[in-house]
Amino acid sequence: MHLEAISAFEDNYIWTVHDGQSALFVDPGEAAPILSWLERRRIKPVAILVTHRHSDHCGGIPDILARHDIPVFGPAHESIQGVNRPVGEGAPCRIPELNLALEVLDIPGHTSGHIAYFGHGWLFCGDTMFSCGCGKVFGSTPELLYDSLTRLAALPSDTLVCCAHEYTLDNIRFALTVEPDNPALLDWQKQSRLLRAASQPTLPVKLGDELARNPFLRTQRPEIQAHMANSAILPDGQAAFVAMRAAKDRFD
Ligand SMILES: [Zn+2]
Repeated sequence: MHLEAISAFEDNYIWTVHDGQSALFVDPGEAAPILSWLERRRIKPVAILVTHRHSDHCGGIPDILARHDIPVFGPAHESIQGVNRPVGEGAPCRIPELNLALEVLDIPGHTSGHIAYFGHGWLFCGDTMFSCGCGKVFGSTPELLYDSLTRLAALPSDTLVCCAHEYTLDNIRFALTVEPDNPALLDWQKQSRLLRAASQPTLPVKLGDELARNPFLRTQRPEIQAHMANSAILPDGQAAFVAMRAAKDRFD
């Protein structure tokens, strides 16, 4: 089984899992890169998985469905054109052609109905977690995003996190304002620069590596809480996270 990232728009990745004959696609914001990829490889699409309602994640669905009548899994609590298998926490997401069964997780925060797909060592988390960062909050709360990220952080540390955007180097610039001396972060900045200079994705990333360098997953640490503290907030993991999310919004 192969995992690949197909580039779309400026910095989106549409993830595909395929066995050389059948393929699933995660968050197809546009159809053209997928349709040409399928034609080039002579592979047939068997399913689409969508994590949330933003058009750069689901805008390509109608054009794909116009050519291929396939199941489209998507969040039960968001209205997305083309989703014909609405799913939520605990619902099965089975793709028999690839012999895959993924687990659906409700992870609100970036959007209120955001879901993730987890299994076979992969996590497709849309815009909830990025390398060294996390998603912005649209129509939900940073507290819910914190709870969702806490939940994802507890998955097995060898999980490959398949994020939907190439934001790594920008995120590292912010992360270094929080932890300027974190060796894992400095090392990853060097490696990421080399990868991007060679036009390679920095993703997927191992969850265990992110725990050592993604400041949004490290707000339980006293030194990070002290860094984010001000007179208005209590120094705990959630408060430090909320302050960090707001600081990143001002940084961007
Ligand atoms: Zn989004």
